[in-house]
Amino acid sequence: MIADSDRGARYTPAVPILAVIARRWCVAVLGLALVGCAAKPLAQPSWPAPSDPMKLSRDAGFEPTDREYLTTHTHAHLDVFVDGQRVQVPGGIGIDVAAPKGIEATKTPDGSGMDYQVSVCDAPCLSELHTHTPDGLVHTESSKIDVEPHTLGQFFIEWGLRLDDSCVGEYCKPDTSVDVYLDGKKHEGNPAEIKLAPHVEVAIVIGRPPAFIPDSWSFLPGQ
Ligand SMILES: [Zn+2]
Ligand SMILES: [Zn+2]
Repeated sequence: MIADSDRGARYTPAVPILAVIARRWCVAVLGLALVGCAAKPLAQPSWPAPSDPMKLSRDAGFEPTDREYLTTHTHAHLDVFVDGQRVQVPGGIGIDVAAPKGIEATKTPDGSGMDYQVSVCDAPCLSELHTHTPDGLVHTESSKIDVEPHTLGQFFIEWGLRLDDSCVGEYCKPDTSVDVYLDGKKHEGNPAEIKLAPHVEVAIVIGRPPAFIPDSWSFLPGQ
C-alpha cells in the first residue's frame, strides 16, 4: 500500500510532470537558440597573395608589364575586418614576387608582412593594379594616360578571392553579415563594381563590426 501510494504520489500528476519536462525542454531549446544567435565567432581567414599573380592579372583584364609605368598613378585604400579584427591585405598582389630578377622583397619593420618593390624584370612581372605593402594601399600604375579607375572586383580577382553580391571570400550572406563601406558610407549593390578612384577608402566588414569603420586613409603627399 505504501508502495502504491508512494508510486501514486510520484506518478499521478503525469500531465504536470510532462508540462515541466516540456517547459524545461523549451527553455533548453531557447537557450541553444540564443547561444546560436549570439554571433558564433568567425574563423579568421588565410588570404595570402596568390602564387599565380600574372595569370590572375590577365584574368582581371590586364596585360602585365616588366616594370612600373607611372603615366597614370593613383591610389585607393582597402580595409577588411572579420569579427572586428583587421585582416591583412598582403603586399605582392598583382606582382610576380617569385620573378628571378627585378623584385626587391623586404620584411615590414613590424614584421607583419612583406614589402615588394619592382625595378625591371626579365619577363612581365607587374599588373597595373597591385599592392606593394601589406597596409591596404592599392596602386593603379599605367603606361596609358588618364586610365579609368579599375574596380574592386578586378582587385579581388587578382587576390584570388570571391567578391560579389553575396560573398567575400568564404564568407557569405545570409549566414554571415557582409557590409561594404565607401568613404565611411554603407554601399548598396555589388561591391565588385566599386571603382578604385583616387583616394577612395573601401572598408569590408564581415561579421561583428570593428569599433570604428574607417572613412578615409592618410595618403602621403603624392599618393
Ligand atoms: Zn607600384
Ligand atoms: Zn603607387
